[in-house]
Amino acid sequence: MERAIVAIGASHAGVQFVASLREQGHTGQITLVSDEPDFPYHKPPLSKAFMKGTASVESLNLRGPHFFQSAGIDFRRGLSAIGIDRAARQVRFSDGSILSYDVLMLATGARPRVWAGQALPHNVSALRSLNDARRLHNAVADTVGPIVVVGGGYVSLELAATWCMTTGRDITIVNSASRLLARSASPELAAVVENRFRAHGVGMRMGVQARQFTIDASGNARGVVLSDGTEIPASLVVLGTGVLPNQELALAAGLPCDGGILVDEQCRTADRAIFAAGDCTRHFNGYAGRQIRLECVQNAHDQARVAAAVICGQDARYHQVPWFWSDQFDMKFQTVGLLPDTRSLCVTRGTPRDGKGAYYHYDMAGKLAAIETVNMPAEHMLGRKLLSAGMSVSADRVADPAFNIRQLL
Ligand SMILES: Cc1cc2nc3c(=O)[nH]c(=O)nc-3n(C[C@H](O)[C@H](O)[C@H](O)COP(=O)(O)OP(=O)(O)OC[C@H]3O[C@@H](n4cnc5c(N)ncnc54)[C@H](O)[C@@H]3O)c2cc1C
Repeated sequence: MERAIVAIGASHAGVQFVASLREQGHTGQITLVSDEPDFPYHKPPLSKAFMKGTASVESLNLRGPHFFQSAGIDFRRGLSAIGIDRAARQVRFSDGSILSYDVLMLATGARPRVWAGQALPHNVSALRSLNDARRLHNAVADTVGPIVVVGGGYVSLELAATWCMTTGRDITIVNSASRLLARSASPELAAVVENRFRAHGVGMRMGVQARQFTIDASGNARGVVLSDGTEIPASLVVLGTGVLPNQELALAAGLPCDGGILVDEQCRTADRAIFAAGDCTRHFNGYAGRQIRLECVQNAHDQARVAAAVICGQDARYHQVPWFWSDQFDMKFQTVGLLPDTRSLCVTRGTPRDGKGAYYHYDMAGKLAAIETVNMPAEHMLGRKLLSAGMSVSADRVADPAFNIRQLL
């Protein structure tokens, strides 16, 4: 008899997983459970087109209701998995129900880091879910006055850029690191981004932390107090201070976790019957040569596909080169590969500062490790092919303006 498969979490990883299971020929029972009220949706537009008001909720659908019906997937919404009994192979849910599984997928993703200070005032929130995005979208419409964005990562910057273009309001970014995108972009690309925000009149407070909020009589923040003692006025505050993996369910079930549910290159946890994929996992990445946790759609999709293939009997392994994108103002940033901790060289092509160019980053062994492009999608795609093929290209060649990666492929 075909095995019964249960997947917890119905976002990029969970939905790709169940779709891939059917594509790979699994004909047995599949149950997909989400603790959110909505049909699964694309997350990247939440800080971009949806926040601008140019994308409807329907247009965000990862897969609509008809997909689950026609693929014979039992999709359950608004239900939290609260416990796993590994010996009995059962999952317990918030409504008291229990599901038995032969194979379990944990695609529980990540959640915003909790603010360590006082209780959050009404007009302070983070952005992770469609519900958060709806609330923020309404809050922007319902308020006037300055907006403060705490955090200098991609989601924070996308929101700041979106509101800068659509609201004309005063926006200040507060960033505890001395530069933007300290975890996810090179200093060169971060400088391009910072210039663009400054040119649009967005305020920048670098190297200071948001410490607390001053509150008005109705319980709203009216200012953000920083670690240097200054206060920035605010009528709306967004916290973009990073995310934490949702690993508690796995931990409570005795599965090894270490800043993410630990999985191997086949997305298996320490229990042969339990797989995990996406933002909730930490995996050994062959490209990086170490264990990493990635927070991007590519990783969620590719891990989910590998897990489905393995369950369907293939010897699949997750070896994909990481890539991701971000849209801010008129710029599309795309990165492929991983920035080396220490690098020997960065070669610039074109003029990224003027809105079109690329940075090629080399590791200490002189190997090409990552390519960051600005408004060069074709170069990004070719870079993906190059790095996926395990190829490198010398810095001298890249520095030649006449060079085209296509020559190598
Ligand atoms: C605003 C925004 C913009 C982004 N932009 C980009 C971008 O441009 N490019 C890019 O590559 N990435 C982007 N990302 C990151 C990308 O969205 C994530 O990497 C991706 O969503 C990870 O998918 P996932 O399925 O692993 O986890 P998640 O998307 O976090 O989904 C996990 C799901 O599991 C549910 N869940 C958790 N615990 C339980 C439980 N116990 N029971 C039931 N359900 C549970 C959660 O509620 C959630 O629905 C963005 C993220 C955000 C928030």
